[in-house]
Amino acid sequence: MNRPSGADERGKDTNTPAGVCPVYRKCGGCDYQGVEYKEQLQRKDKEMHKLLGGIVDTVHPIIGMKDPMHYRCKVNAVFGLDKKGYPVSGNYEKNSHRIVSVDSCMIEDEKADAIIRDIRSMLRSFRIRTYDEDSGYGFLRHVQVRKGYATGEYMVTLVCTDPVFPSKNNFVKALRKNHPEISTVILNINDKSTSMVLGERNITLYGRGFIEDELCGCRFRISPGSFYQVNPPQTQILYDTAIRYARLTGQETVMDAYCGTGTIGIIASRHAGSVYGVELNRDAVRDAIWNARRNDIKNVRFVNKDAGDYMDELSQSREEVLPDVVILDPPRTGTTQKFIDAVSRMAPERIVYVSCGPDTLARDLKLFRKKGYKALEAQPVDLFPFTEHVESVVKLTRAGL
Ligand code: SAH
Repeated sequence: MNRPSGADERGKDTNTPAGVCPVYRKCGGCDYQGVEYKEQLQRKDKEMHKLLGGIVDTVHPIIGMKDPMHYRCKVNAVFGLDKKGYPVSGNYEKNSHRIVSVDSCMIEDEKADAIIRDIRSMLRSFRIRTYDEDSGYGFLRHVQVRKGYATGEYMVTLVCTDPVFPSKNNFVKALRKNHPEISTVILNINDKSTSMVLGERNITLYGRGFIEDELCGCRFRISPGSFYQVNPPQTQILYDTAIRYARLTGQETVMDAYCGTGTIGIIASRHAGSVYGVELNRDAVRDAIWNARRNDIKNVRFVNKDAGDYMDELSQSREEVLPDVVILDPPRTGTTQKFIDAVSRMAPERIVYVSCGPDTLARDLKLFRKKGYKALEAQPVDLFPFTEHVESVVKLTRAGL
């Protein structure tokens, strides 16, 4: 057989040192396999100093985890067949669409992995065919498992090509027999030739169609398509820092831009006069509105728009929504010049920038500096051990304040 040396027939490394994931070379999910956790944190500190050193007055040491294993509360598995025709599930190989079979992963929630393994073993008896990307035939494409960290609720989303799922009730029953912790099962329809995991349509097969979690004393609903941080205990530290950096006294008008399911804004609302949240994803905004009600919070409004467009409109309208504090938490690509221009027209006293992309953060902080905003301190928080990703929160004030 033509097999690379050091790999078995499923692509697993047979000569990796103990404690190192057997598929890490192929999988590409972890950049820091085999690197001690302390050393990982040191490397991240060095990187953040290099990027932010000249832009932020004080860059604090990164806050790491006590136990950095199995922290991911959201697990995606792609399904397919191996060369012998048996179902496999796992991740795409780095820079390719070949599947690396993963049974258990050091950074993923262990129960989520067990649920995925059990689904895989049920496929044959339920005559469920996995999807083949090349031919476009087959039914099951991905399984996504999400866990409410504090509630222990699990949501299973079966991403399939067709809304008709034969024997779905028996399938759900069999799955829940082994995993009573599953509180909802959703069929997501994705019939497009796309690298996006989820399609747009969801059909609830069991339960409420979402799970809940608790963070910083608030309750949050998580739907299949909504963003929610994958490492809740570290997220709590991140959000607490963001609220502290906002220095709220109970009077302020706060803008929560790129608000997702409204988490930061809802937590901030207890310390603010009023909060506005803006978010592009429709499902997330629906969750945000529900979350505000669920937490009995009345001083928050959410808007479903592009954050840059919304801020631009506000800054030019007579509506007089002039935020005292702008909190922004954009995706890895960072924010836009339009957003920064609009914010500087509104001239809030403080800006709190939550970032998952250090490079774009450095770029945007320089743009804010040109508009007169000084970055006083940055607090990196390790939300993603074993990977190179760094989340951080930065406090900016209008120069002279
Ligand atoms: N603050 C939230 C979400 C942060 S993730 C939390 O902590 O959970 C970034 C969010 O920005 C995602 O919810 C994404 O849907 C949203 N987003 C991406 N592009 C956007 C845009 N142009 N305008 C508004 N929101 C956007």
